[in-house]
Amino acid sequence: MDTPVILAIANQKGGVGKTTTAINLAAALAQEAGRVLLIDMDPQGNASTGLGVDFNARKQGSYALLMGEKDPASLARPSDVANLSVISADTDLVGAEIELIGTDDRERRLKASLQDIEKRFDYILIDCPPSLGILTLNALVAADGVIAPLQCEFFALEGISHLTKTVERVRSQFNPALHLAGIVLTMYDKRNNLSELVAADARSFFGEAVLETVIPRNIRISEAQSHGAPVMIYDPRSSGAQSYTALATELLARFDVRQKGKS
Ligand code: ADP
Ligand code: MG
Repeated sequence: MDTPVILAIANQKGGVGKTTTAINLAAALAQEAGRVLLIDMDPQGNASTGLGVDFNARKQGSYALLMGEKDPASLARPSDVANLSVISADTDLVGAEIELIGTDDRERRLKASLQDIEKRFDYILIDCPPSLGILTLNALVAADGVIAPLQCEFFALEGISHLTKTVERVRSQFNPALHLAGIVLTMYDKRNNLSELVAADARSFFGEAVLETVIPRNIRISEAQSHGAPVMIYDPRSSGAQSYTALATELLARFDVRQKGKS
């Protein structure tokens, strides 16, 4: 593979499982499929924390990347997981939204910076903040595909149609290659009828865009984050670890189909 598959993990709603999916899908792809870079584009820095990146090690990260301040290669650091590197969210990222107002090509900055490091990775995952502002826009312009986590809760579908419209707009204005790589149902609770209802609604509305793999609500997933490790390292036998590994396998099969379709 010459250029990596770049995936933005996006949904403007908070708390739907973006960061959890970014961390664990990145770790699963690193175990199964090659060299992975996770970029934390959320000023809250939860993906950096969830991968155990020390606060003192966050002086230079995705803000410097976005601003083109530093050689991008020097910003990617190895994580404790083999094959998985991370560009953490630095504290300055919180001001980026305002700083970029009125600058040229403000939507294309991430894409431009990534060109210098693309060859070092097979997959680049971008954890987006809970908004459709300039940080998420930069991720969508740089990406090939969008993974949209959908929490099995009330009002979940309303949010996602906002996102799919944004994807359409970015595709027509900035990035013709962008597509919805998949909607992932997260925090599925099989004891709760609502989970089943939301899942059925999502599948009838979005059809094949909804990935087969469903991520269950599993306490080991949130425990792992507080220990600064992906769940497949923290507890490989948990349902959470197995479901994220299955998600990676399903996505890899989809990329395969896409690549074969191209040739
Ligand atoms: P977002 O990045 O969309 O704001 P997070 O990934 O941070 O959402 O998830 C919100 C909260 O839910 C976190 O505390 C996380 O640990 C927890 N969580 C996410 N997915 C699961 C899951 N499958 N099972 C249990 N807890 C989860
Ligand atoms: Mg998050």
